[in-house]
Amino acid sequence: MKDLRIIRLLDVIRSKIDNTIKFVFLSAGQVVEFSYINKNDGKDIICVPTQTACNMGCKFCFLSDIKIPIRNLETDEICALVDVVVSTLGLIKKEKLNHVLLVSYMGCGEPLLNIDNVIEAGRRIQEYMKKDYRVVRFAVASMIPAMSLMETFIDKVKKAGLKMKFHLSLHSADHMVRKGLMPSAEPIEESVDLVEKFVNATGNSAEIHYALIKDINDRDIDAEMLAAILKGRPVSVKFLAHNAKPSIDFEESERVEYFRAKLEEAGIKTEFYRPPGWDVGSSCGQFLMDYYLKYNKKE
Ligand code: SF4
Repeated sequence: MKDLRIIRLLDVIRSKIDNTIKFVFLSAGQVVEFSYINKNDGKDIICVPTQTACNMGCKFCFLSDIKIPIRNLETDEICALVDVVVSTLGLIKKEKLNHVLLVSYMGCGEPLLNIDNVIEAGRRIQEYMKKDYRVVRFAVASMIPAMSLMETFIDKVKKAGLKMKFHLSLHSADHMVRKGLMPSAEPIEESVDLVEKFVNATGNSAEIHYALIKDINDRDIDAEMLAAILKGRPVSVKFLAHNAKPSIDFEESERVEYFRAKLEEAGIKTEFYRPPGWDVGSSCGQFLMDYYLKYNKKE
């Protein structure tokens, strides 16, 4: 177990474009970042990392450009850090905490590589956050790096009885394109089958994440394949605004409305989401870039 006396809050950074607040910690010698997201919908959302870095190698992710030592965050560590974020929020927010807390495992790392700590931390947070929130819910975003891990995850979420929404990072319905974007991803159809199994086995909901990138995954055929794979499945689709990073020339696609219409035609619910907090490095895949580099330069 890590020595939790060596958790230090290094910085609290407020976005100038929305309500996002980023919390930067030094935890057992490594920089770890959380964010607080408030969409004025009655929920306090805390975006939680599961690892100190990530080696899944997704081409569009900022984390793929820097080599940071990777370790899984431990149960006590996740719980302690969430507790600090919530108590700091209580001090710095002008208004009161909302009634609903959503703990979203969508920060740094691949949650299915740290299943036991993700579930156990969820179980404990659900218990002790009752003091601050009427409802505590969870969300997890994963690419499904191995089928066996997803099977284990389904069993453990079911046993723990957690209210946890699953978000599959899909980003292409074409296997070759997806492999190019996400080299650690598994076959698409089997991954989506397991997402459906998750919904049926746990009674939780699931969503497909798709960041539309110009000339990469926004062709007409991509929309058709996506609709064909998802038609009749108990999932919705969230199209994400692509977060352009300087080291590759990917651009945000302008074809969101076309894709949404194609999917809605097939009876699949869709929405568009622009990840918050991009100016403070709290959007998808942006965590650690600024502070990790700054901190390690100082040392
Ligand atoms: S997008 Fe997620 S899974 Fe992929 S490299 Fe980044 S943190 Fe890892």
